[in-house]
Order: sequence, then C-alpha cells, then structure tokens
Amino acid sequence: MRRNLEAFTDGTFDLCIIGGGITGAGVALDAVTRGWRVALIDKGDFASGTSSLSSKLVHGGLRYLEYGHFGLVHEALVERGRLLRNAPHLVAPLPFILPFYRGDRLAPWQWRLGLTLYDLLAGRGNIARSRRLTCRQIQSALPGVNPEKLIGGASYHDALMDDARLCLAVLQTAARHGAILANYVEAVEFEKSGGIIAGVWAQDRLSGRRWLLRCRAVLNAAGPWADALCRLAGDSGEPRLQPTKGVHLIAPPRGHRAAALLLHPCDGRVFFVIPWYGKTLIGTTDTFPEAGPGALQVLQAEIDYLVEGYNRYFSASLRVDEVMGTFAGLRPLLRVRSGAPSAQSREFTLQTSASGLVTALGGKYTTFRQMAETIVDSLAGRLQKRRRCQTHNLPLMGTPSIPWGIFCQDMTASIRSRFPIAEDTAVHLVHRYGDQVESVLERISGAEGGFNRVHPDEPDLVGEQRYQREEEMAQFPADLFLRRSRIGMFRPELLSV
Ligand SMILES: Cc1cc2nc3c(=O)[nH]c(=O)nc-3n(C[C@H](O)[C@H](O)[C@H](O)COP(=O)(O)OP(=O)(O)OC[C@H]3O[C@@H](n4cnc5c(N)ncnc54)[C@H](O)[C@@H]3O)c2cc1C
Repeated sequence: MRRNLEAFTDGTFDLCIIGGGITGAGVALDAVTRGWRVALIDKGDFASGTSSLSSKLVHGGLRYLEYGHFGLVHEALVERGRLLRNAPHLVAPLPFILPFYRGDRLAPWQWRLGLTLYDLLAGRGNIARSRRLTCRQIQSALPGVNPEKLIGGASYHDALMDDARLCLAVLQTAARHGAILANYVEAVEFEKSGGIIAGVWAQDRLSGRRWLLRCRAVLNAAGPWADALCRLAGDSGEPRLQPTKGVHLIAPPRGHRAAALLLHPCDGRVFFVIPWYGKTLIGTTDTFPEAGPGALQVLQAEIDYLVEGYNRYFSASLRVDEVMGTFAGLRPLLRVRSGAPSAQSREFTLQTSASGLVTALGGKYTTFRQMAETIVDSLAGRLQKRRRCQTHNLPLMGTPSIPWGIFCQDMTASIRSRFPIAEDTAVHLVHRYGDQVESVLERISGAEGGFNRVHPDEPDLVGEQRYQREEEMAQFPADLFLRRSRIGMFRPELLSV
C-alpha cells in the first residue's frame, strides 16, 4: 500500500470517503470490490481516531441485552463469526469469566438468562456455549480473585482483535482491489455545483499541497469529527452526535488466563479486564467528555476509578504507579435526548444533507462490515450501480489460504528454523502479518540491526519498521509505535526517543 497523491487527480471518483477509521475503511473495501472508483483520505494516520482506542473486543455486547438491543447484538454476533473467518490472524476467540457476587446489581439468574440468549443470538456462529462455573473454577481461571461473597459464576466467549491493525488490513485489502488511499490528507473545503457537492478540496499535511478531488458522492466517515465536517459542508442544525469518552489502563501481566466481565463497585457499570499483548487491559469508563476529539486527556480520577474497580475483585492489588499506559477515545454515538452515557444507543444511521453529503453516524467497530454494506447499498441507487456486496466471505490481507491453526503452527516453526528469532517473536510476527510474514522478514533481513528487539522485554523487531514505512504508510514514530505496532501504548518512553 503506497502513498501516491498523483492518483487522486486522475479523473472523477465514484466515491470519496473522508475518514480512515474502521467505518471509512469498511466502506472503501465494500465499494471497491463492487467495481467502484474509490478514494479515501484521513487528516491523520489511519485508525488514529477512535479505531485504535477501543476495548479491542469483537463482540455482540452482552451488556446491551440489558437495554433490549437484541437486533444489534444478533447482528454483531454474526459479524463476529465472519471476522474470525476473514481475519483469523488479527481476531481470535477470547474466553470470558463472569464471577457472581452476593448483593450484585444483577442476580445470577439474570446473568444466566442473558448468557443463554447470547448463545442463541450467536446461532451457528457461536464460539462455545456459555457454562456455569464453581467458585473453585473461577479462582483457577482468575488467580487472586476476591473470594468474599463469591457464589459461583459463568464462562462464555467473545473475540479479541488488534483494532488498529484490523483497520489497516481492511485498507490494505481495499488498496489491493484498486482503492486510492492516503493518510495525512485533510478535507478542508467542499466544491459545490448548484449547491450540491461535486468534489473535495484536499490538503496534504506533509507537503502543504492542495488539490480538488472530483467525485460523484462523498461519505463523511469522520467518526467523532462528523459534526465538524457537516458544518464545513454548510449544514446547519443541531449536532447529530453525542460522543461519550472511554478510558483504558494497561497494567503489567496479572496471570489471568481469561478476560473478566465485572461490575464496578461504585456505580454497578460493566467493565472488563482483558489479557492483551501479554499485558492487562482494564476499561472502560463511559462519561460525557470534557473536550472534543483530539484534545482528550486521561484524568487522574478516571485512573483511580479503574484501579479501584480492579482492586475490588483481585487480592494482588494494582498500584497506580504500576500502570504502564493509558488511553482515551470518543465513541461517536448518536445524539439522544436523555439518559446516562452507558445507556446511549450504539445503533448506526445514515443521513444525507441538502448538500448531498452522506454522513455515517453511530455504530460500533464489530459491525463495520455490515454498516459498510448498508451504506454502499444506499449509495448504489443514486450512482446507478448494480453489483451487490462482495465482502461477506472476503479474506482480509494476511489471511492464509489454508486453515489458520495449521498455517500458524507450520509457519512459526518454519521461520524459526530459517531466521535468528526467538519463539515469542516468531509467534508475534505470524499473528501480526499472517501470510505476509515472509515479505516482512525479507525487509527485516535487509535492515541494519533488523533482528534486534525494539524493547528487550517485547517481541517486536526493529526491522519491522522498514516494512511498516514502505508498505503500510507509517510516517511518524506515533504511527509506528501506537498503530503499526502497539508497543508505545505500554512503553510510552519509546515515543519520546
Ligand atoms: C473507549 C471505547 C471502547 C470501544 N470498544 C469497542 C469494542 O470493544 N468493540 C467494538 O465493536 N466497538 C468499540 N468501540 C466503538 C468503536 O471503536 C467505534 O465505533 C469505531 O472505532 C468508530 O470508527 P470510525 O471510523 O467511525 O471513527 P474514527 O476511528 O474516529 O475515524 C474517523 C477518522 O476521520 C478522520 N477525519 C476527521 N476529520 C477529517 C477531515 N476533515 N479530513 C480527513 N479525515 C478526517 C479522523 O482523523 C479519524 O481517523 C469503542 C469505542 C470507544 C471510544
């Protein structure tokens, strides 16, 4: 995937997508595989908005059952099944433990009912049936879990992803099919003819160059910036979004063999403890933000809230000074009149304004493919395009042609025998790049000190950065350390080198 700005000036595109998070990426892939001419620009790095700052769950959302969002949960569970097949290197099954405590906001029978429904809604795509667990089984899966008032629990499955890399894989697949993409290109103005948008004035933030990107339709996939883009197009009226802020902590490994779904002792809200890249991800908060996208900060009170939640459940206390990293993102949720942040709808909707600008609002990461199909279907009539969606079973870049388990085992052994790499690095490379791992290793071999580790305690290699610059459009250290690799999220000192 190469950055070629000249290609944006070549004729008229069917669709220009503004925003290279998962929503824009999904639409680019759907539209280009139907044979459309597609351009996509992002003012920052790909996935540098919300799409690298999620809880990393490809899930139906067990907790949404509480609000009666059965359709949304079913749709997300179907998409979870597809992603496990279409991107097995980046999306993997994740066992969850749900401990029950006497006096919890939800009684065990309510959880069990919810889990049975969750299994049913997943249908044939279920990963494994939920099960009742004894206190002893809970303690074995979650070492150090607080036994006081523990009365049993349950296990169920969802899936874990690398959100930034999954977004990149969708973009790479779209580029392979002919989509023209660039990061660090901002939509700064709309070109109109008779009041209707006929193009986008794009500005390269690296060189300052500005040009007109001609197109037949424009999709606003700017996530939490969607309202700002509507204003740029001249739309007046109420904001369409009511974003909520979510903060996560990354703690050192805590020996958990599964993720845990827990209720916060202060307010009864659901939060997760998730093993991720050998570390422990704890989150999330869900509040109305104090600042707009791009200006979010993690507040001390938010760190304290998550540490307090964790320490309510685990005897090996987590100290605030042990926290390795933090991050905050904005959920681009639809504006509704009232209600607590966590009760805001995760539904998705599409709006077309008088200028012709089509805006994608709401939704969640897991359902990006389905949202993209809906968006492209709705544009197809206007553009008089007939071909139907092609992405249901489309393998994403990196997916091998043989079953993942076999590929993973054979390739890990093969690269270990041919290159000077340790077991953890071999596993890491195969999962990160899938069937592209051989060409990544070629670049690593050709880079000076390529086989050195970026950090002595992490499997990432220095030479990966060469591939990430040449083939994945990484421009700055943050692109390399926060999104192409994730090491900067828990080793923030790397970002200041
Ligand atoms: C804390 C948190 C946890 C979450 N956890 C989960 C989860 O576990 N599972 C799940 O399914 N979902 C989860 N979500 C929801 C999910 O992450 C979001 O729905 C999704 O990432 C939104 O993607 P997007 O592409 O719409 O927006 P973004 O990823 O924010 O992308 C928008 C892009 O538009 C670009 N842009 C803005 N203005 C312009 C312009 N003028 N020109 C060019 N580009 C522009 C931005 O730079 C940005 O990259 C979570 C969200 C949050 C905040």
